[in-house]
Order: sequence, then structure tokens, then C-alpha cells
Amino acid sequence: MIRGTAAIVGRPNVGKSTIFNRLIGERKSIVDDTPGVTRDRIYGTVEWLTQEFRLIDTGGIQIEDQPFAEEINMQVDIAIEEADVIIFVTSAQEGATSDDIAIARKLQKTKKPVIVAVNKSDNEQLQLMQYDFYQLGLGDPMIVSAAHGIGFGDLLDRIIQVMPEKKIKTYEGITSFCVIGRPNVGKSSLVNAILHEERSIVSDVQGTTRDAIDTPFTYEGQEYMIIDTAGIRKRGKIYENIEKYSILRALSAIDRSDVALFLIDGETGIIDQDKHVAGLAHDAGKGVIIVYNKWDTVEKDQNTMQTITKKIRSQFVYLDYAPIVFVSAKNHSRINQLIPLINEVHDACCLRIPTNVLNDVVLDAQMINPPKPHNGRQLRIYYCSQVAVEPPTFVLFVNDPDLFHFSYQRYIENKIREAFGFTGTPIKIFARQRT
Ligand code: GDP
Ligand code: GDP
Repeated sequence: MIRGTAAIVGRPNVGKSTIFNRLIGERKSIVDDTPGVTRDRIYGTVEWLTQEFRLIDTGGIQIEDQPFAEEINMQVDIAIEEADVIIFVTSAQEGATSDDIAIARKLQKTKKPVIVAVNKSDNEQLQLMQYDFYQLGLGDPMIVSAAHGIGFGDLLDRIIQVMPEKKIKTYEGITSFCVIGRPNVGKSSLVNAILHEERSIVSDVQGTTRDAIDTPFTYEGQEYMIIDTAGIRKRGKIYENIEKYSILRALSAIDRSDVALFLIDGETGIIDQDKHVAGLAHDAGKGVIIVYNKWDTVEKDQNTMQTITKKIRSQFVYLDYAPIVFVSAKNHSRINQLIPLINEVHDACCLRIPTNVLNDVVLDAQMINPPKPHNGRQLRIYYCSQVAVEPPTFVLFVNDPDLFHFSYQRYIENKIREAFGFTGTPIKIFARQRT
């Protein structure tokens, strides 16, 4: 269970991206001496002891053609808005610079905990520089060196220690869902159509979305919550149009939802940016429904739906479990399919299969199509048990987990889906050695 979010801020070249990569345990992304090298990954999950939190590197969120000060301002705004803990990275090689002081001034205004990490504290002499950072007025600085791996245990301890106790907010007993998709696919229009009222402003200006918080509503006597993806508003639209920022917003909305409606714009068809959004929905382990919007603009014959379905399946292979619906938010057509489908998907996410029934299916599957031997050794499944819901998670007790190959995992997954449905929810299957 993700406990919260930490965000890294700081001026360029202090080592934010190096620290980010160390913390998420990957060193793949490019670290370069040129300040402001674009990075692909800006969020990841960190596990420390028994805790798990999300980490954002705001240094990777950039606005084109904006002065440096504006960019830093935006990064700090986003950190303050999105994070539960802020890690302010500085450099022992340079000491507290005037830019650091400007950032500190902004951070002093937030009530959220801020940790000053003095990076590049590679040796004892550089470590003395920490005292220079008391002038930032943000408490005791911490020494780290991303290059030498110094101070990371202490830094992680501190992050966990100051992170507020709450778990990410979800709505108990209410089905909550969000509408995600790139700008202009029709998210606000769909939300409005679902709510049957013009609560939000929908305009033809790209990126205009409603300014609202999570919206509760009732449908056929049941309560639902639409989770909002709107972000920082005060600086106008520039933030919304930054793809990486909108991805962060979608991420936090998905975290708080049971089901995500992933929108595709039928007028423009599928583009690359859609794949990032779809990936988020899948990775989060929540229910997913693919909504092909603006169906009114598509020229149709009797094969169109089938052709588009095929295209969607081939572009989003990992979302093969997600049902697809074709709607027009503008004309309110087929919108009434959505709520029943959201219910069905949410039920599937929460479904628990009795152990004996599950074992019948899995052991039968093994009998019909036994695993192929690998280096003369064959996987044997003895027993299977569902250990979690949301997403449904299964453990197979086997002779040797290393023999459980991806293709066989797919096969077992398909058999479980054939038997029990699990519409719209990812399922996880692990193999464990029988003791
Ligand atoms: P960012 O712009 O703040 O994300 O900074 P980067 O992570 O791209 O790092 C900028 C430069 O500082 C790179 O050349 C890194 O190799 C270097 N760097 C990062 N951490 C350390 C450190 O702990 N010690 C030293 N000496 N260099 C570091
Ligand atoms: P968002 O940025 O994803 O929230 O998208 P909006 O809801 O603001 O919609 C963007 C534009 O697409 C607006 O001009 C809408 O009127 C239009 N739009 C939304 N849904 C539909 C639809 O089903 N059909 C058509 N033709 N236009 C739509």
C-alpha cells in the first residue's frame, strides 16, 4: 500500500535526477553534466523497510520557452501541491546560492515537511558545508552523496518519519472512478454527461477543464465518486498542457480511484501520448475501462466497431482485460452503459474465489496442458490460493518458482479469466515454493 508521495526539488545540476535514480533503484536514465538534460522517468515507487511511497523528480517537468525562474517556480509549486514530503536538494560543492535561498523562501510558506539534502557531500571537507545551509531556515540539513551512496539510509528514514500517517485517501464503501486521457479527449464532457448537468465549463479551447474537486453522486440508489484530475489552477493553463504534469495528475487520481476510465479521442484516433496514459492505468493495478469517445464524429459502417476494437487491442496489448465502450459525451449517447460497467469492473476487482473452486480450475488447466520441461525439469503446481483483491492476486505453490515462465503464467491467467471473468481488472499471479 502506497503511503504517500515525496517530491524532489532544487536547481539544475545539484543531482536531483541522480538521487531519484538511486532512490527508485534504477540507474538507467541519463545523468549528464549538462544542466537540465531531459529525463524520461519522473516518478517511481520507493520501498524502504516495510514502507512504500511514490517519488517525483520535479526537475523532469519542464516548460518550453520559459525563463529559468519561472520553471523553478513551477517545479516548486507542483511539489508543494502533489507531495506529502519535499526533498530540497542542494550542492555541497557550491554552498547555499541565491537561487537556493529563493527556493527556500517559497518552501518556508508550505506546511508540508521539507528535508534539505546537501548532495555532493562526497568527503569530510565537503560535508562541513552542511552548516552553510542552516541559513535556508528549513531545519537540519542532511548530508548525502548520490555519487558515493552516502546518507541514503538516513534520508529514507527521515522521509518515512516525517511523512504524514495517512494512507492515500480512498472512499470506503463507495465506488470511485476517474476519467483519464490526454488533453481534449473529452474528459470534462464525459464527466458532465455522467452527471447529467453542466457543472463544469467545457469549451473548444484545448486544455480547458472544469475547476472542481471530487464529485459525489447517486445513481439508482448507489453512491459514486468521480475523482477529479484537475491540477494547479492559479497559473492558468500552462501547467495543464505540460504532458508530464498531466501524467502526475492522472496518477494521483488513479491512486484514489477503484476504476479508471481511459479515454481515447475517436476524432483523432490513437496517438503516442495515449500510451503513456494507458500504461499508468495498467501499472496502478486498478480496474480499467477503455472509452472510445467522440463516436459521433466517426464515419461508420457495420465493421467499424470491430476494426477499431482490433486496433485498440493491438495498440494496448497489456490492457486486453479492459472492456471497450464507444460513446459520445457530446450527444450523451451510450453513456448509460458506463455505470453498470463500472460496477461490474469494480466487483471483479473485489472478487474472491473460493479455494476449492480455484484449485479445480488451476489443476485442471495443468492437467490439460502440462508445463513444458525446461532443462529436463518440469514445473509442478500443487495448490493455488487467492491472497488478495484489488487487484485479485493468486499464489501458486509449486516445486520450483524459477520454472514458472511467462508464457505459462499467461496460460494460467487466461484459464482463470475464462472461468471467473474478472472483467476489467488486472490479475497478478505469483509462484512460491511449497514448503
Ligand atoms: P539535476 O539537474 O539536479 O537532476 O542533476 P543531475 O542528477 O543530472 O546531476 C548533475 C551532475 O552532478 C552530474 O554530472 C552528476 O554526475 C553529478 N552528481 C550527482 N550527484 C553527485 C554527488 O553526490 N557527487 C558528485 N561529485 N557529483 C554528483
Ligand atoms: P478534456 O480536455 O479531455 O477535458 O476535453 P473536453 O471535455 O474539454 O472536450 C474537448 C473538446 O472536445 C470540446 O470542444 C468538446 O466539445 C469536444 N467533445 C467532447 N466530447 C465529444 C464528443 O463525444 N463528440 C464530439 N464531437 N466532440 C466532443
